[in-house]
Amino acid sequence: MRRRRTMDDFWALVDRSGECWPFVGEYATTQRGYVHLSWPVLPDRYVHRTAWIETHGPIPDGLQIDHTCQNKRCCRPEHMRLVTPGEHNRITFATTCKKGHPLTEENTIKNGSGARLCGECRRDYRRRRRQAGIGT
Ligand SMILES: [Zn+2]
Ligand SMILES: [Zn+2]
Repeated sequence: MRRRRTMDDFWALVDRSGECWPFVGEYATTQRGYVHLSWPVLPDRYVHRTAWIETHGPIPDGLQIDHTCQNKRCCRPEHMRLVTPGEHNRITFATTCKKGHPLTEENTIKNGSGARLCGECRRDYRRRRRQAGIGT
């Protein structure tokens, strides 16, 4: 029989060297771009939900997790927050970012997982980090 997987196996497949912690093991994605495990460790198959549940406990009924970094493969609990499905749709299909910058084609960066990121915010973020002397 195969060894039962543990949370250690899970975290071993999460690249925690950078700002975002993408799941780097073998994975399949759902239609919305979320990653799920073929060997769930917790009663939940989604990798981001697994990371959230281990850190914060069960996800309250009716709430969903939104990635503030827009990277759906990211398992960093600090990059997630709980939202209602309505809020989640509004964020996913928004025409402006949360700071109000228009998500036009020129201002939108698609990341590896197909999420739309605000170019303006990303530049801001990098500038602030540079000023604070963190990273590059
Ligand atoms: Zn992230
Ligand atoms: Zn923005």
